[in-house]
Amino acid sequence: MTRTKTIRGNIKDTKEHVKKRDSINLELNHFDRMISLLGANSKKCSECKRLYTDVEDYFEVLKEKEYHLNRKDKKEGKVLTNTIMKHLHKEHNLFRQGHYMSIFIPLGTSVGLVVGLLFFGKIVLPTVLGLTLGLLIGVVLDATVKKYNRTI
Ligand SMILES: [Zn+2]
Repeated sequence: MTRTKTIRGNIKDTKEHVKKRDSINLELNHFDRMISLLGANSKKCSECKRLYTDVEDYFEVLKEKEYHLNRKDKKEGKVLTNTIMKHLHKEHNLFRQGHYMSIFIPLGTSVGLVVGLLFFGKIVLPTVLGLTLGLLIGVVLDATVKKYNRTI
């Protein structure tokens, strides 16, 4: 069995054994994609290679513990996901799903609020418009990233 297959098997087992809430918190669904991306980059990038091994070790440990996760395990999983996401974004120009929405919704909302307050003396409508515009921009940009297969 290849290393990637073993990890995927372990991720699948983890999904089946932990509580649904933990599975979502640990973003287990993301790990499949992250492993492919790390594997694909690990020939050229030493950090990807290292992170790949980290993921491998992490799921091996969970397996050994028979998926009785404690707080530290959960925290480690989160830190690992964040480290990988950051690295893939910074070094390999890949984007987390909903990346632009998470930027443009708050941005649109605050611009709407400020503009509404300063120029119209109203808050609700300009804020809602700002939010909607931010959402639209976010959706379009996220769809573009997805189209070019740059999503983590
Ligand atoms: Zn890398």
